[in-house]
Amino acid sequence: MIPPKFEYFAPTTLHEALSLLRRYGTEAKLLSGGQSLIPLMKLRLASPSYLIDLNRLPGLAYIEEDDGYLRIGAMTREADLESSALIRSKYPILLDTTRFIADPLVRNLATVGGNLAHADPANDHPAAMLALQAEVVATGLDGTRTIPAAEFFTGFFTTALTPEEILTEIRIPIPPATSAGSYVKLERKVGDFAVVGVAAQVSIGEAGVGERVGIGLTNVDATPLQAKAAEDCLRGTRLDADAIRHAAQLAAEAAQPEADLRGSSDYKRDMVRVLTIRALTHAVERARELPAQTGGR
Ligand SMILES: Cc1cc2nc3c(=O)[nH]c(=O)nc-3n(C[C@H](O)[C@H](O)[C@H](O)COP(=O)(O)OP(=O)(O)OC[C@H]3O[C@@H](n4cnc5c(N)ncnc54)[C@H](O)[C@@H]3O)c2cc1C
Repeated sequence: MIPPKFEYFAPTTLHEALSLLRRYGTEAKLLSGGQSLIPLMKLRLASPSYLIDLNRLPGLAYIEEDDGYLRIGAMTREADLESSALIRSKYPILLDTTRFIADPLVRNLATVGGNLAHADPANDHPAAMLALQAEVVATGLDGTRTIPAAEFFTGFFTTALTPEEILTEIRIPIPPATSAGSYVKLERKVGDFAVVGVAAQVSIGEAGVGERVGIGLTNVDATPLQAKAAEDCLRGTRLDADAIRHAAQLAAEAAQPEADLRGSSDYKRDMVRVLTIRALTHAVERARELPAQTGGR
């Protein structure tokens, strides 16, 4: 199928893009990597009258640490995340996540901002951003605001962005020393969307006790899910096998997966338990192995 007719704009400044968004409101759609939007338009599940292409906007693709945060520009491609020395050395959870997304062709175009803004509960970055306690920067003509990832995903394919805002940056607090994360995903075949995915990020304090703990779940509810009870039970607790098993059980109980061709809801819930054990165990191992990190908040 081909999409219905639409008017195409390729603004060259953020102000121009935001002005177009204000003018056309909900009749318009932003185009980043196009890896979710274009298939939807071809299937006529999305029929925007106006398409605002963000690909010519300067200064929205970067990966840098600054002022206590890892800052990722919204137009950063998955492939850039994958090849970043900073991500490889200090943020293994993000390297895991991007490598699980589709295939190299998709990753050359798909953006991190688009992955979050699309708010597909089956997308992989949301869970990792929940685990990392990230914030999203939303820019409108009237200024910018930051939205915690935990408040960003408001419903099925729905976010806290207003129709006049563009997601411009993702901010991740630089983790303290002895921190690391892991993202694990069950998929039917390489490059497929998750049956279930689990992201875990831990900071280990004195005597192996969990300090900061973040756990995000993929594709087990209408929105990406933060496993709060599981996180809480690990804070101030030694991160040993028993504690991890208990947290994994709590994560499984928080999941509300729908049965579909990928499995029954009971199967998926049990996969949350299994993958949470794997993600936490791997995160703890990595935190002990990674070189000490500096500059954390
Ligand atoms: C074959 C295939 C397999 C895939 N497998 C996976 C997978 O396993 N895991 C996974 O996570 N993803 C997967 N994807 C999705 C892919 O990662 C998408 O690219 C991503 O979800 C959207 O990013 P994008 O830059 O392409 O956004 P687009 O497709 O350009 O946009 C998606 C939506 O977000 C909005 N949007 C985009 N950028 C912004 C912004 N800066 N501010 C506000 N709104 C914005 C658009 O208006 C649109 O509604 C797959 C895609 C394909 C084609």
